[in-house]
Amino acid sequence: VIPARVDYLRPTSIGEALEALADGDAKVLAGGHSLVPMMKLRLARPMLLVDIGRLELRGISESGGVLTIGALTTYDQLLRTDGIGLPDALRESAAAVGDVQVRNMGTVGGSVAHGDPASDVTASLIALGASLRLRSAAGVRECPADEFFVGLFTTVLRQQEILVEIDLPLLGPGEGSAYRSVDDAASGYPLAGAAARVRLDDGRVAECAVGLTGAEATPRRLREVEQALLEVGSGPVEPCVGAALAKLELTRGEGDSEYRRQLTVVAVTRAFQTARARAVEGET
Ligand SMILES: Cc1cc2nc3c(=O)[nH]c(=O)nc-3n(C[C@H](O)[C@H](O)[C@H](O)COP(=O)(O)OP(=O)(O)OC[C@H]3O[C@@H](n4cnc5c(N)ncnc54)[C@H](O)[C@@H]3O)c2cc1C
Repeated sequence: VIPARVDYLRPTSIGEALEALADGDAKVLAGGHSLVPMMKLRLARPMLLVDIGRLELRGISESGGVLTIGALTTYDQLLRTDGIGLPDALRESAAAVGDVQVRNMGTVGGSVAHGDPASDVTASLIALGASLRLRSAAGVRECPADEFFVGLFTTVLRQQEILVEIDLPLLGPGEGSAYRSVDDAASGYPLAGAAARVRLDDGRVAECAVGLTGAEATPRRLREVEQALLEVGSGPVEPCVGAALAKLELTRGEGDSEYRRQLTVVAVTRAFQTARARAVEGET
């Protein structure tokens, strides 16, 4: 399958890239692992590809307890990060993506900007309280990850904006995180993937955030389950999650809603239990 004819530009500065995006039919190209397949299927038909691969948007740094991830950082680079305290949820969700080729080429920013309902890392970014930095010729704006996704492959990102960086707070003592998913055997994408971040205070869950991907039209924060998890105490987790998600209507993809709901319960339970166990380790 061959994409339609397209012009190609590889700018060396962000200013040049933003100028090129003023053309309403232009599209950003990062790792190309989502956009190029869509172009081959003619689901996307840009007239101009603005390849941002040469821009200095790659790498991970830490300052003042905040981790900053350049949008062009690949999954593989994320997984090779040492000594910087990358939260477990993010590491596990990056490791869950595709295969080694996809992790070598696919970028964290591309995964977010694409608005794929089954992107692994988005659940973690939501649960970890990430903030996305979006840049256009008019300036820079910040958007919390849990307000970024608005519909199937639809985000608040404007055509003339580039996602440049992602900020996320590092976890402190008594905090833990985890990502767990149940994957589609054929594609490897999550049928339901959940990330949890837990903060313990004196052995009690004082704060809990859960992000869900794969099961609905957009990744999102599962607020309806968070309150229940704050109150679970030493009781069994799965029935508590099941009750909180009893009314969840899942309409995306194959399989009936009840099947997906069950998978969601399993993924959320596993992510929460692991994050809580890690928080206990961090507390002692
Ligand atoms: C075989 C295969 C298996 C896969 N399996 C998985 C999986 O299991 N789990 C999973 O989560 N993903 C999976 N993926 C998808 C992969 O994670 C994405 O392709 C990748 O993260 C998207 O990043 P990219 O750099 O390739 O983006 P591109 O394909 O270059 O771009 C994707 C979209 O985002 C826009 N964009 C990209 N970067 C920016 C930016 N910085 N600012 C503004 N807009 C931008 C582009 O314009 C385009 O619309 C798979 C892909 C393939 C091909």
